[in-house]
Amino acid sequence: MPVRIGVIGVGYLGRHHVRIYSELKDAELVAVADINSMRSEDIAKTYGCKSFTNYADILGECDALSIVTPTSTHHKIAIECLKAGKDVLIEKPITESIDEAREIIEEAEKNNLLLQVGHLERYNQGIIAAEELIKEPKFIESERLSPFLGRGTDVDVTLDLMIHDIDIVMSIVKSRLKEIRAVGEAVLTEKIDVAKVWLEFENGCKALITASRLSPEKQRKLRVFQKDAYISIDYQSQEVRRYFKTGSDISFDVIKPESKEPLKEELRDFVYCSMHRKRPRVSGIEAMNALDVVLRITEVLKNSHQV
Ligand code: NAD
Repeated sequence: MPVRIGVIGVGYLGRHHVRIYSELKDAELVAVADINSMRSEDIAKTYGCKSFTNYADILGECDALSIVTPTSTHHKIAIECLKAGKDVLIEKPITESIDEAREIIEEAEKNNLLLQVGHLERYNQGIIAAEELIKEPKFIESERLSPFLGRGTDVDVTLDLMIHDIDIVMSIVKSRLKEIRAVGEAVLTEKIDVAKVWLEFENGCKALITASRLSPEKQRKLRVFQKDAYISIDYQSQEVRRYFKTGSDISFDVIKPESKEPLKEELRDFVYCSMHRKRPRVSGIEAMNALDVVLRITEVLKNSHQV
């Protein structure tokens, strides 16, 4: 039996969730809900499912739901879905506060329900291929540069974009964070548009993470330095290059995994985990940990602006 899926919030990203669920063979897209009724009706017509304006009305129709509404609404909607006994996939960031994230995690655990969070770079084939090559990294450098699109500007670039890289770095380093330094500036909006963050971990690894929504070009790279090797991952091409020492020379190889749409892999995992009662690659705990680091960075940035 396919998993009966509903999507709450069908704006910029939600409509991609809808498209992908309509293509997954183990999912049956049954309904969408959006407070913008024209939007939900339009999407429902295109994909042949039911349309609602009140998300509470969708709950009886599905086994599992994607929550793709603005972050400020995630907590309320997720708690209601979980109380109704539904598995949930919440878009990133999980919530605005740690207390809200913890409540959602506890509600899911209490009811033995699936809670997945949309950190889609974990499903990037370049990252998955590089995982096998990365051993005790000493230094990580990450760059996520985007043109100014005017989206997501109600929050700092750290919460909008950098949270992806923070989650990836923490999944690679697997050590407690010791120190955070950060610089950032609001340039085109009232929020931080460009930031550089320095993280130091208890195991000695260090990371320099840059995020900007002011770049003329889109660039998304992760570089990992470890004993005798340097591994470079291009998120966009999903290609991995490994440079390593052979005698006194430096050689390199290129790994080109079959390119796959990360969001599709993420939603496929959600459907699979819902069907087989498995744990997803990114659960609430990892998402809460990434949010915690972003909120700590926000504090560092706030204090640096008060000087
Ligand atoms: P958006 O504003 O384009 O769409 C949000 C939709 O939710 C709108 O159609 C709005 O009418 C609807 N909505 C608002 N409140 C609602 C409610 N109570 N019930 C039902 N519908 C409601 O926003 P977006 O860019 O699609 O972002 C949505 C979420 O996805 C955010 O949490 C954002 O951070 C996240 N996001 C993640 C990524 C990623 O890379 N994983 C990328 C973009 C956005």
